[in-house]
Amino acid sequence: MSSSIRAIRGMNDILPEEVYQWNFFEATIRNWLAAYGYCNIRTPIVEQTDLFVRSIGTATDIVEKEMYTFVDHLNGESLTLRPEGTASCVRAVLEHSLLYAGPQRLYYYGPMFRHERPQKGRYRQFHQVGVEAIGYANAEIDAELIIMCARLWRQLGISNVRLEIGTLGSVASRAVYRDRLINFFEQHLHHLDEDARRRLYTNPLRILDSKNPAMQEIILNAPRLLDDLDEESLVHFQELQDRLQQQGIDYEINLKLVRGLDYYNRTVFEWITDKLGAQGTICAGGRYDGLIEQMGGKHTPACGFAMGIERILALMNETGVKIHQTVADVYIVYQGEIASKFCWKVAEYFRDNALKVILHCGGGNFKSQMKKADASDARFAIIIGDDEASNSEVSIKPLREVAEQVRVGLNEAVALLKQE
Ligand code: ATP
Ligand code: MG
Repeated sequence: MSSSIRAIRGMNDILPEEVYQWNFFEATIRNWLAAYGYCNIRTPIVEQTDLFVRSIGTATDIVEKEMYTFVDHLNGESLTLRPEGTASCVRAVLEHSLLYAGPQRLYYYGPMFRHERPQKGRYRQFHQVGVEAIGYANAEIDAELIIMCARLWRQLGISNVRLEIGTLGSVASRAVYRDRLINFFEQHLHHLDEDARRRLYTNPLRILDSKNPAMQEIILNAPRLLDDLDEESLVHFQELQDRLQQQGIDYEINLKLVRGLDYYNRTVFEWITDKLGAQGTICAGGRYDGLIEQMGGKHTPACGFAMGIERILALMNETGVKIHQTVADVYIVYQGEIASKFCWKVAEYFRDNALKVILHCGGGNFKSQMKKADASDARFAIIIGDDEASNSEVSIKPLREVAEQVRVGLNEAVALLKQE
């Protein structure tokens, strides 16, 4: 018995009718990133497993349970499909010594892979745009990253997002807080779920990020990082807020914001929507001043974010942002011996003039061809019989509005077809 092969669970096909929205999004982000001077970097989808283990950290969701890791049987190497983009980006920057030329404003775009339970807004292959500003210490760049996100939402027509910002302080102040947090949770062990107990000594801050409703009360009562924050981090956080206020960006301070990854310090931020249920974070980022050194480079401050494309597109759909793009401007139907040669000339000539053209394929009489023209989303049918062809003319029939059919030469046809 034969059974049909299906796509892998949580890994989606993007069908032609959805691709318009992706194309629109991709064109928008390219212009948007260029407007801020960010350059594209493209790294492989597969990397050595150690890259992610070392940079993301062992006590994280990603490394603990979400990575697609496998042994390359041809040489025994342990490889991993990239679960996020920062590690690869930093690896490439160090490997090619890009920082010798000064700080780098970079971005990447593409699929990421995490073995999660597939649900709305959570997939096993999903796409991210990530932006990394490497070599910048000041809060100006943290502000720039957030301000540029706000512009993107405007350009995409998204308005239902709010910004939460927080600070994790310095590594040293976090260490003090970490001890205090462990101490507190130790006194409330019976309130902790299994995940939290497992993380108590490896990544206690991550407990604050628990999605378990039963944990929310204990989390609410946990000590606050704010009380342990170092002076410099507080100043940095204030500078960020000043710039956001200058630019009229609304935000809420959320000091319980902990990023899932180990490598963040100081600024953390998330853009969140209430329109997508539990998977409401469409963009998340922050500062990671220690990562580059940890990966073998010189100490280099850096800041970045990543956004989940599927969630952003879902939000656009949810809030009625419509992208309309037509497959073709014209659909050419033809019949007759001279016409069947001339129609190719016409099609190529129209394409020379930046028109999108579908040339009918598969024969049939005019009536059946016109049905195909109607079913396409083209605005016009171009009708070519031998009579038109021998005079180097075409007949133009509007398909979406009531108007007369006209018969004209090719130059005039192009002019008419390009009219709005
Ligand atoms: P979450 O708490 O939702 O698991 P995360 O902290 O793991 O998110 P990041 O690693 O910060 O997410 O990734 C940045 C963004 O990428 C997220 O805010 C989200 O928009 C998107 N994202 C992350 N994981 C997935 C996934 N499995 N499917 C779709 N989008 C995702
Ligand atoms: Mg996650």
